[in-house]
Amino acid sequence: MKFGGTSVADAAAIRRTGEIVRGRLARRPIVVVSALGGVTNLLLSIARQATSGQEIAAQSHVQELRERHLACARELLGDGPAGTELATELSALHDDLAALAGALTVLGHATPRSLDAIAAMGEQLSSLIVVAAFARAGIDAVHVDARDVIATDDHFGRAEPQPEAIATAARATLAPLVRARQVPVLGGFVGATATRVTTTLGRGGSDYSASLVGAALKADAIEIWTDVDGMLTADPRLIPDAQLIGEIRFDEASELASFGAKVLHPSTIAPAVHRGIPVFIFNSRHPAGTGTRITFDAPRRPVTAIAGKTGVTVVKVRSPRMLLATGTLRSIFEVFERHRTSIDVVATSEVSVSVTIDDATRLEALLGDLQPIGDVSVERNRGIISLVGAGISDTSAPMARALGALDGARVHMVSLSASGINLTLIVDGDQVAPCTRRLHDAFFARPVAA
Ligand code: ASP
Ligand code: MG
Repeated sequence: MKFGGTSVADAAAIRRTGEIVRGRLARRPIVVVSALGGVTNLLLSIARQATSGQEIAAQSHVQELRERHLACARELLGDGPAGTELATELSALHDDLAALAGALTVLGHATPRSLDAIAAMGEQLSSLIVVAAFARAGIDAVHVDARDVIATDDHFGRAEPQPEAIATAARATLAPLVRARQVPVLGGFVGATATRVTTTLGRGGSDYSASLVGAALKADAIEIWTDVDGMLTADPRLIPDAQLIGEIRFDEASELASFGAKVLHPSTIAPAVHRGIPVFIFNSRHPAGTGTRITFDAPRRPVTAIAGKTGVTVVKVRSPRMLLATGTLRSIFEVFERHRTSIDVVATSEVSVSVTIDDATRLEALLGDLQPIGDVSVERNRGIISLVGAGISDTSAPMARALGALDGARVHMVSLSASGINLTLIVDGDQVAPCTRRLHDAFFARPVAA
């Protein structure tokens, strides 16, 4: 069971979380928690302020965090011995944080390694509070340091988990607790290298932690507890009448995750898929809801969901030299790899290649390196709309309906994923919202009441 930042944002939320876990005790849960909502962002801005000489601002934010964590702990535990012990632990961690921020101020510079030391504090703090709150609520909870379980490489800021080492550690550390009917509680997002230097898995990484632990121990299920009812047929900010998806296939959910569905960390899916473990998404505020079940055997529909995003850059490379030549795609993709820019969508013909990127920070350098390969052009402010459904390419009908629904809007690129379940259209950025609306009406319109 993984609880995100909003599920542990304050004392009331942590109490609700405890009740949800209590309801699952018979199923022998392991609990993974995020930092208290907003804390990771604040930690990273403390690091930024410290390195840019804003020492007073940095230290006053440390103080703000100290007060928030202590107040939350006090509200949950009171002033008795357990409360005092927790307050001492939390204070010590904030002292460490203040010292780290001080060191960054002196250095005027932060390495990825020191940023991880700071970013990891949020989950270290939240997990201590949650375990104490559970114990106070009569749950036999035990704190486990995530760094004893989540083994990673030393790619700080986005460390790569080491599944074998995690499986070994989980069997040694977590399994005996579970067998003894205790509830292990660990912070998400955080890991450690083989020499036990603290790392993080990248923003939003707590889902990843949960699925790594679940996969390591062959859990029956991985539950992601968040602040939405589950995955929806579209972004509800764009489509207020978006519907809850009761069941979605793993491959569909993966396509959606990589195309901006905010509910799941994309990599969350991988370790779970690997083991065939169903992943559920539930809402901490409506624990009785049915949520979304992500599994292999969900019904096969033409379209399960529509995802979109704006701010996309299209890079096109054209060259007659590509005709019948080999290795051109490789040289193009190598340029993107060299500049650590990930490509989202690709469409090619014999003499041209179009790709989209989200992150255009290295664009100038990319273009410089692409020029020798062919004529390069760039289109900014494009948007992506992805229609995802296991049956989207079973017949031509869903695609005909999709293109018809666009009602004349310009389409700059079209790509059908190799899996045949993701039809991606590149449109003008300002067309993403109206086109998504029309597509949603075309595929999910409810019968109008008479
Ligand atoms: N606290 C981390 C973040 O905000 C990890 C997580 O919440 O999943 O990115
Ligand atoms: Mg999160």
